[in-house]
Amino acid sequence: MAHNSKHKQLVFTIKDRCRVCYTCVRECPVKAIRIVGGQAIVISERCIGCGNCVRVCSQGAKVYLQLKEEVMELLQSGKPTAACIAPSFPAEFIELDDYRQLVGMVHALGFDMITEVGFGADMVSVAYRKNFQAMKSSATITSDCPAIVYYVEHYHPDLVPYLAPFVSPMVALSRYLKHKYGDDLQVVFIGPCIAKKAETDDIDLVITFTELRDLFELQGITADNTLAREFDPPYSGKGAAFSISHGLLQNMDVEHDLTSGDVIVAEGRENFKDAVHEFAQGKLNVRHLELLCCEGCITGPGMSIESSKYLRRSCVSGYVAKKMENLDSELWQQQMREAEGIDLSNSFEPLDRRLERPSTEKISEVLIKMGKTEPADYLNCGACGYDTCIEHAIAIVQGLAENEMCLPFSIEKLHQSIEKLNSTNYELATAREALKQSEKLAHMGQLSAGIAHELNNPLGVITMFSNILLDEAKDPAIRSDLELITEQADRCRKIVGGLLNFARKNQVRHTEINLKKFVARSLQSLVIPNNISIDLQTDMEDPYVYMDHDQMMQVFTNLEKNAVEAMPNGGILTVVLKEKKDEIEILIQDEGYGISEEDMEKIFTPFFTTKELGKGTGLGLPLCYGIVKMHHGKIHVQSNNNPEKGPTGTSFVISIPRVPK
Ligand code: ADP
Ligand code: MG
Repeated sequence: MAHNSKHKQLVFTIKDRCRVCYTCVRECPVKAIRIVGGQAIVISERCIGCGNCVRVCSQGAKVYLQLKEEVMELLQSGKPTAACIAPSFPAEFIELDDYRQLVGMVHALGFDMITEVGFGADMVSVAYRKNFQAMKSSATITSDCPAIVYYVEHYHPDLVPYLAPFVSPMVALSRYLKHKYGDDLQVVFIGPCIAKKAETDDIDLVITFTELRDLFELQGITADNTLAREFDPPYSGKGAAFSISHGLLQNMDVEHDLTSGDVIVAEGRENFKDAVHEFAQGKLNVRHLELLCCEGCITGPGMSIESSKYLRRSCVSGYVAKKMENLDSELWQQQMREAEGIDLSNSFEPLDRRLERPSTEKISEVLIKMGKTEPADYLNCGACGYDTCIEHAIAIVQGLAENEMCLPFSIEKLHQSIEKLNSTNYELATAREALKQSEKLAHMGQLSAGIAHELNNPLGVITMFSNILLDEAKDPAIRSDLELITEQADRCRKIVGGLLNFARKNQVRHTEINLKKFVARSLQSLVIPNNISIDLQTDMEDPYVYMDHDQMMQVFTNLEKNAVEAMPNGGILTVVLKEKKDEIEILIQDEGYGISEEDMEKIFTPFFTTKELGKGTGLGLPLCYGIVKMHHGKIHVQSNNNPEKGPTGTSFVISIPRVPK
């Protein structure tokens, strides 16, 4: 075949319109549609131009190569032109009472000559008949449907020698016309087919009936404003019925006996593939394999109307019946004699486009990635556009498909995302709560620092002078009062000192500390009642940590003291040291009465205490908080005070960077 034009991209995707339903993938007989980033792209090299994807896309996201403008340019060029109308035209222009109206309209576009491809079918049928009669053992696959030809060349290259070595009716007619009117005659084929746009360079331009209707509209051409006229010769005979199924066979005039089984007609997306497949396997004992990609050309993708296959069929057969009634058979035979010398030969090249089947390991690797670990997981639901999960997996390895096309896989991923989102939301809420708390504490810190600073000097004066007075005083009653004053002034100083710590006014002096020993000492400095036992777990590989010795001692003793005070009836005080990546973690846990949810928010607030007057100051935890923050660490509490919800108790976890930041 003289088809340099074969690599023309015939079908395109309009990205914005594609809603990734994978219907095109499902309907493509050769899997020429690649899904990339959730977008369907037609792979030109694999496409056979059947137009199934164009027909099935409900969003109009698939469009085929349009050549209307080129046709208009040609008509304006002044060159001699011939329109060749495909035999399926009566099925498209159902609304016209008389075919001559259509001929008149095409003429109004500017064509010099309007002819019927049916005559080309008459010519080709003769070649097929002779071939069939001459053939004894070998078989022929019809080559009049270009999509079938591409299919065989690309996907069954070993069957190329079986393709009938003849041109299509379209090319036959064009050769007849050029033979008669000269090579500069420009031939435009108008029909129901997309694949024909890439069939051959013999034809100058190919447009569909849909494009023809667009041209009529553009030019304002209607049946009412044009003069009806007859087709130009050559007039077709039975070839006019070519577009209906079995059309070629009928025209070949061969005795086709159902019992002999040497003729098979297969049409439509599934059927033609099955037939080729079985033929390739040597299962079929046939001489004539008539294959069409559509169910007769009358169902081609370049038709614009929505009507049933059978209505279309009856329109064409009605047209042919009338035609045969009025046929001037002498004139027809004379035309056929004229056509005898015209070369109808054609040849085909294998163009292998088959993809290698991936190894079983590769396939199962992909299946596992999609969560399909065993055959029971292969739902074969077809949602991805592939019939089976294995076919989908193969396509993924071949770079044609993506995991996300698998519906169960995507739903599972969605579930996971929702879960992640929920947990992130939860974390966010917790973080927000913590931020609120720390902002509050920061404000408190500023206020306390201010007060503490102002109180510090007068307190110093009180302490100093009350001590001087105490030294001088002799009267026991006065001495006792003065002692009380110094004692309470001292207490005030401690409180003020605590406030200053909380307010981070202090500096941190990092020194290297052996945490194991450090914790043991902190516990020794406490008064621990007999009913409380201590569980100390200091299993550390490297016990050395940098922190402020005195400040951290305050943190440990405060937390341990709180734990002891929370267990008036005894229990276990657990202290655990843990090593994290760059941090150490200290857990201080008790089995005490716990903290109510309500109090939980307040425990770090200065002066908040639930202990009786004189016992608690409410400064322990704010102090711990301030010190831990100064060490760039974190402090967390967990508590339960409700025996119905399980054992009560509280645990504080502090984490501190091992080395200062
Ligand atoms: P204080 O111990 O002087 O009351 P803190 O700042 O150390 O002040 O503690 C504040 C409050 O937090 C305590 O009064 C108590 O209600 C609560 N609290 C702290 N630690 C614990 C604990 N381990 N178990 C129960 N409640 C605790
Ligand atoms: Mg305390």
